[in-house]
Amino acid sequence: MSRKTNYRQEWKSGNGKLPPAAPVAFGLFFRAGACYRAASMSRSPLILALETSCDETAVAICDGAGQIRAAVLSSQIPEHQPYGGVVPELASRNHLLRIRPLIEEALQTAGVTLADIHAFAATAGPGLASSLLIGNTTAKGLALATGQPFIAVNHLEGHLLSPFLGNPAGLQPGAALIVSGGHTLLLHLRGSGDCLLLGRTRDDAAGEAFDKVARMLGLPYPGGPEIDRRAASGDPRAFDFPRSMKDSGDFAFSFSGLKTSMFYLLPTLGDSAAARLPDLCASFQEAVVDILVTKTLAAARHLGAKHVSVSGGVSCNSRLRQVFHERCARAGLTLHLAAPAHTTDNAAMIAYAALHRFQAGQFTPLESDIDPNLTL
Ligand code: ADP
Ligand code: MG
Repeated sequence: MSRKTNYRQEWKSGNGKLPPAAPVAFGLFFRAGACYRAASMSRSPLILALETSCDETAVAICDGAGQIRAAVLSSQIPEHQPYGGVVPELASRNHLLRIRPLIEEALQTAGVTLADIHAFAATAGPGLASSLLIGNTTAKGLALATGQPFIAVNHLEGHLLSPFLGNPAGLQPGAALIVSGGHTLLLHLRGSGDCLLLGRTRDDAAGEAFDKVARMLGLPYPGGPEIDRRAASGDPRAFDFPRSMKDSGDFAFSFSGLKTSMFYLLPTLGDSAAARLPDLCASFQEAVVDILVTKTLAAARHLGAKHVSVSGGVSCNSRLRQVFHERCARAGLTLHLAAPAHTTDNAAMIAYAALHRFQAGQFTPLESDIDPNLTL
């Protein structure tokens, strides 16, 4: 079951209606110069952030210099694995059970108490509604109890900024690729809270293609890391998979043809398919990597950018990282890859994005809603 389908199904089961076609703009979540006593901001604020958009419960504490003082995470992969995808109700109930112990663990790791925190942040979308609500309600409750502000964070902005986490030079404008289980977005990153969408996938996200192809190959969920591992001993030229839209002249992507091509290839291999698993993984992975890197570098050329940043779960892929390194070096571009621990869902990136909002004095009213279909 795909994540996209999950979001829609869950919304449907929640109120019987499909999500609105035009999602609420990210900016609506913020109220510049809110009633919070901005003048009392410490020089080094501490932000506690919660991430519960899908099946990871994560808590992080970030200081004013952008240093992560604590980051703890509880993955639900084993709980959802028998179903081959994320089950929304199971995810939210697990968030509910895990969030409080994780907050306590994060505070302990950072050596602080709730009274030391200057703002509480949570992912407000996109994601599974029932999962988002757990993190949001918890962060708002903490804000209310401590009298500190609440900051809603767009999960995609978290990914977008994650390659710069820990970078003393901060954000670098340029071409930015977000490539995850639910999203494949190419953007012009211009600054904090300022980006322009250049293109997105027309069908499956790259991570979704990894997961669906892995399933066809009999590999467990999530499929990306499984394919990555097996591809290491395979030949990337063994099978010639299509590079859909690689030279389309725009910045859109399409991965469903690649998936279909695997679907039709497998029966022709018969009994030899199992023995060819590493070659199948390596060749499929090479096609995805080739498309992603080629289009991102074309976007950098188009923008006249000097920097390229790559984030999201698929950016953990070892071959993607290697090819980005090689081709950016050849093109004279500076590459910013999210650290492996910050590629899949995590709260450190949410805390870091919230810090930028905090520094801009952008806080969110406690009456704000979540938005499962939030866009950048
Ligand atoms: P989302 O935020 O859209 O839910 P994440 O950022 O958590 O997605 O990323 C999860 C996706 O990343 C999954 O589709 C998973 O298969 C993929 N992924 C994780 N590691 C790798 C890897 N090493 N190679 C390819 N894909 C990967
Ligand atoms: Mg994500």
